[in-house]
Amino acid sequence: MIRQPATGAGVVPVLDHRGAPIGWALWSPTSEIRLRLLDQDPGASIDDRWWHRRIATAVERRAAMLIDSNARRLIHGEADGCPSFICDQYDRWLVVQLMSAGLEQVRPRLLAALTDALRPEGILARNDVALRAKERLPLSVELVAGDVPREIEVVEHGVRFLAAPWDGQKTGAFLDQRENRILVGERARGRALDCFSYHGSFALHMARRAEHVVALDASALALARARLNCERNGIHNVELITASAFEFLTAADEQRRVFETIVLDPPAFAKTRAALPSAIRGYKDINMRAMRLLAPGGLLFTASCSFHLSKQDFLDMLRSAAADSGRTIALRMVLGQAVDHPELLTIPETGYLKAALLEAL
Ligand code: SAH
Repeated sequence: MIRQPATGAGVVPVLDHRGAPIGWALWSPTSEIRLRLLDQDPGASIDDRWWHRRIATAVERRAAMLIDSNARRLIHGEADGCPSFICDQYDRWLVVQLMSAGLEQVRPRLLAALTDALRPEGILARNDVALRAKERLPLSVELVAGDVPREIEVVEHGVRFLAAPWDGQKTGAFLDQRENRILVGERARGRALDCFSYHGSFALHMARRAEHVVALDASALALARARLNCERNGIHNVELITASAFEFLTAADEQRRVFETIVLDPPAFAKTRAALPSAIRGYKDINMRAMRLLAPGGLLFTASCSFHLSKQDFLDMLRSAAADSGRTIALRMVLGQAVDHPELLTIPETGYLKAALLEAL
């Protein structure tokens, strides 16, 4: 029988089954995840100083990560000892997400610690994440300190693009693919295709070395931003196409089109565990078609950010796609999320992005 705290959400001591203290945790009475461990030292005081140290340590850790950008993830939840908390830095501004009822109780401490460590010009809370509903917390986008512009220029390995902190996806950009974009940009050549392009960030990196890049997205609004990003970089070899990737890949296959470099960075097809089988069929379909479009020696960078799809499932899906593509495909690199999104080996939930660089022989 587990005894639960009689108090509302917040920081609570954790006891083992004999009643001996074993640490401190965030307590969310109505959540599926009621306890999130903060500290395994029962003697710790989870006070202002504690939060200052925790935040400062996470920020200091980033310095050694050699991040080639003015946008970076400073706090990646459990992997930085701050469960249910995300903090991304975009140049002089911060965008945060508080994703548990327990964490909401320490909001002022968190914000004070961030302000102390970074002196940002503004902090925006992108608390419009669906996860908050499971904690019975309101969904909102809220300016919590200073001012934050609608658009912030990110400079990533010399490529400029605008992040949209107020209304863009995630906290305003997909920082989790940074090193993968740089890697693909340095290897891109010939005719290139970026299939789920969003604001064009892979396409922009590829445009520096490829002859011509097709940037494709189902959202015309996303591609309107991609166009502005091309202009910002003085790039003229990117063609924007509003279309479904499934339809485009099928048509391109029928027309026997050929590409030297292809990027597949789709949204999460498996939003729930139950959706996994149909998601795997979707992933296999686009990967098989992309493999068929590759020139001999062509490269395919492919990713999945579905949390419910394991690394093993991802590689199995690629094997099955390769077998059905009629091509011989080599696995050149197994890749994952950006260096500032660390994954704890003992907390697999901190990892979600799987990626691979493939080559058609
Ligand atoms: N590669 C981007 C992030 C991609 S996010 C980056 O690194 O910044 C996924 C994108 O896929 C979104 O922009 C969404 O509009 C688009 N999308 C979703 N379904 C699609 C489909 N069926 N065909 C093409 N694009 C799609």
